[in-house]
Amino acid sequence: MKDTHKHSDEISDLGEFGLIRHLTRDLKIKNKSTCRGIGDDAAVLNFEGSRVVISSDLLAEGVHFNLVYTPLKHLGYKAAVVNFSDIYAMNAQPRQLLVSLAISRKFTVSMIDSLFSGIRLACEQYGVDLVGGDTTSSYTGLTISCTAVGEAADEELVYRNGAGKTDLICVSGDLGGAYMGLQLLERERKLFEKEREIQPALEGYDYVLERQLKPEARRDITALFRELGIQPTAMIDISDGLSSELIHICQNSDKGCRIFSDKIPVHPETERVAREFGMEPLIAALNGGEDYELLFTLPVKMFEKIGNRQEVSIIGHMVDVAEDLKMITAQGEAITLEAQGWNALR
Ligand code: ADP
Ligand code: MG
Repeated sequence: MKDTHKHSDEISDLGEFGLIRHLTRDLKIKNKSTCRGIGDDAAVLNFEGSRVVISSDLLAEGVHFNLVYTPLKHLGYKAAVVNFSDIYAMNAQPRQLLVSLAISRKFTVSMIDSLFSGIRLACEQYGVDLVGGDTTSSYTGLTISCTAVGEAADEELVYRNGAGKTDLICVSGDLGGAYMGLQLLERERKLFEKEREIQPALEGYDYVLERQLKPEARRDITALFRELGIQPTAMIDISDGLSSELIHICQNSDKGCRIFSDKIPVHPETERVAREFGMEPLIAALNGGEDYELLFTLPVKMFEKIGNRQEVSIIGHMVDVAEDLKMITAQGEAITLEAQGWNALR
């Protein structure tokens, strides 16, 4: 008789343990802080005097992602990377990841395989060990919860509350791209739902689509800090838009800010797509989410070290008065910053 079992793509045929074994096969441990990974009741870690940094994120189908246009491999990659981004935002290095999944019946083994291949790729790329998680069933689609563990020396850690009154405000990369990518995917989805024959018109939009579907965490920026001997005074990663994140730093540090609209980095493609949507590119940069760039502050004397780095833009400076949060436009007008976050834009 033929072994049909082997070819089945049904999760129920594999069972929970079979699925976990299948998903986590051939994992090699990379970090010396990982004493024991998957396979026991708990993972065992040893950080030998470093501070341990830990952060968790929950992604729910229909709320945080739409599988109509999100490939499962990309979703897995993004779920892991956004966790690593939180660890880098503490100026720490991610070392371990735990992944918990609630899976509904519409998913097959090969679909969860795709999701996991993205998670495993992210761990590979960022040198992180996958050390555990949990797997269960769900009645309401897919839920992914990731927990990343990182390490840093105590004196390297950067919090949100350390910005000084004249510190430079800096941001890595460019902003607003992930939000415009989402707008584009949503537009094509709606057209497709009205008329099924329509092929999505996604050519010429590579940059914004990549920003939305395959974001990267700025490990290189934390490496740059070490290379240049820089210790930021405050830092946060930009998941909810520049405006909202900058307000977090200001409130936590009990300071205000001045940023200059013409200094805010926006990619040419982001600008083009925003105009196509009848939107001011600056609004996407200020309020759009999911860019996962780093926003940080530095003492003014660090200008010489960072001023000419093309991966970092200096967009303004802190001021002494708390609640004095302003953006100066190219015309010299002062606008009060508001914490819209990207949910307000949906
Ligand atoms: P328990 O019943 O004790 O919670 P499980 O059978 O759920 O243990 O898990 C067995 C092992 O597989 C554990 O090491 C657990 O961390 C790991 N594991 C379970 N689900 C996942 C997952 N989605 N990703 C990675 N590891 C997982
Ligand atoms: Mg369990």
